[in-house]
Amino acid sequence: MSVTRTLRPARIARFKVPFKSFAPLSAQTATMQSPLGPTSSSLVIINVVGCLAVIRGCPRALKTSTIFMFPYRLKPERGILISVAMYEKAREELINRLIRWGYLTKPEIIEAFRKVPRHEFLPANLRDYAYDDQPLPIGHGQTISAPSMIAIMLDSLELKPGQKVLEIGTGSGYNAALVAEMVGPTGKVFTIERIPELAEFGRANLQKTGYGWVNVLIEDGTTGHKKEAPWDRILVTACSPEIPRHLIEQLKVGGKLATPVGQHYMFQTWFVVEKRSEKDVITRERGGCSFVPLVGKHGWKKD
Ligand code: SAM
Repeated sequence: MSVTRTLRPARIARFKVPFKSFAPLSAQTATMQSPLGPTSSSLVIINVVGCLAVIRGCPRALKTSTIFMFPYRLKPERGILISVAMYEKAREELINRLIRWGYLTKPEIIEAFRKVPRHEFLPANLRDYAYDDQPLPIGHGQTISAPSMIAIMLDSLELKPGQKVLEIGTGSGYNAALVAEMVGPTGKVFTIERIPELAEFGRANLQKTGYGWVNVLIEDGTTGHKKEAPWDRILVTACSPEIPRHLIEQLKVGGKLATPVGQHYMFQTWFVVEKRSEKDVITRERGGCSFVPLVGKHGWKKD
């Protein structure tokens, strides 16, 4: 479609376009240039000639038709984000909020948040909420964590390029992508999910966003993954009834494990465990949190 003149929001614009592009009556979204800069708007498109041609049964008139477009501006706070540019803007605004609130402090974590598009890790009907600071459902009773919580998780892990990391609880794959971004291609990332459909969802999301090199495994993650141990870092993203001692065994000396521990869907605390030597382990609390249960041999027995 060639735009013949600059659109201004709330004005009616008229274009000549090949009919093939449009149904007689349709609505689509577009980014257009307004005098105030790029604006995302929704365009209600009414192909008047097309409608008449269809009503009168005159297909030849459909070859070229006049399309009337009624652009109107939709505000992001109404939950409607309709272009990649808008997603990027919303992402930057979220990052700025998390910096202001003190959740994001380290440049490498901020950079990872900037690079990984959270909206690509959500079911299509929830993408418009990707850059609100809230957990969101991803199906099978599971959630993608709130960005502020993810910032706390990454901060407590102190990830470095080249590290070997195990995540337990793939879900959407978003955390795994952030970890992958931080350890880089010289690092290794394994992520375990117990629900096969979610493992597939996470794997597909990682693939389409360029993190297809992350290894997604379908297993009970409460037993860790001995075959690839020892790990520099282990991140558990579902709540364990107690600090998972057997996972500490799979850590390198100098390694760290971060996990929520607490009651089933209730009071929970974010713990960071540092393995200083085979016998010396220190544990720190990093505040309250709320996660879905870690279900498996060394976790809860049911959801
Ligand atoms: N990290 C995920 C993301 O970025 O979307 C969100 C994790 S969600 C809060 C917790 C996930 O842990 C769920 O997908 C759940 O199925 C998974 N989970 C629970 N118990 C598990 C276990 N024993 N092994 C592997 N995954 C488990």
